[in-house]
Amino acid sequence: MPCITRFAPSPTGYLHLGHAYSALCTVEATEAGGRFLLRIEDIDSARFRPEFEAAIYEDLAWLGLTWETPVRRQSEHLDDYQQALESLRARSLIYPCFCSRREIRAEIAQAGAAPHGPGGPIYPGTCRGLPEEIRAERIAAGDAYALRLDVARASAETGALVWHDQERGDIAGDAASYGDVVLARKETPASYHLAVTVDDHLQGITLVTRGEDLFEASHIHRLLQALLGFETPEYAHHPLLLDQTGRRFAKRDHALTLRELRAGGHTPEFLRNLLATPANLSAFLDSL
Ligand code: GLU
Repeated sequence: MPCITRFAPSPTGYLHLGHAYSALCTVEATEAGGRFLLRIEDIDSARFRPEFEAAIYEDLAWLGLTWETPVRRQSEHLDDYQQALESLRARSLIYPCFCSRREIRAEIAQAGAAPHGPGGPIYPGTCRGLPEEIRAERIAAGDAYALRLDVARASAETGALVWHDQERGDIAGDAASYGDVVLARKETPASYHLAVTVDDHLQGITLVTRGEDLFEASHIHRLLQALLGFETPEYAHHPLLLDQTGRRFAKRDHALTLRELRAGGHTPEFLRNLLATPANLSAFLDSL
């Protein structure tokens, strides 16, 4: 079956070589027939800048990619995320958490050896058991809160889950290793985990291609899919592109943004060739 896949950059910086590599891996999956969608993950409004979004279109087109329109921009679909939250709330699978980041850190420090998950220290569950009246009172008083998923309760509802990674095969779902993740905050009406799961479903994505750094996040996405009654797509997590010192490309590598490379006279063909083998890339990086 031809796949439907997507590239989903966040417009919080200019695209660099790592993004180009990820986008090309995604497109490659559609070469035997398939659809390539682009999604703009602009829900984190504090970090989003319109010029970065404009640059995404320009840089990807320069690289020679074409995608279907309209492009899904997360900020235009807040109702979809709200609906998913409502469905979880109706089953008491999410709860308001009033802890500040500082309070969470203090509580973890006090507990001594706190377990760490893929997303950092695991939230100790401070607000999970708050009585309903206290929750209502604090919300009415205007206290800031995040909505967290009660992962143990949610997992008890879904039972054991499996997802499939093209490279690693069947993976047993392990959302518990994340702890009770945040699904929404006042300033971010849907977290990355919630928005991605809802978007992939609504866009009919059958293959999620993305970097290996998001491998563990797929456990949470799988759990949310099961809770929300969504099909689970196939996953392909590609290795991250590293520089000569073994570090990931990041926003600090200005010289390696697509626009800088273009300004430096490099062609899209040169870039594709560069990204085709690790040897080509390291020879180029050494030459800088
Ligand atoms: N927006 C994410 C990023 O730029 C990618 C999300 C995904 O592919 O699931 O890292």
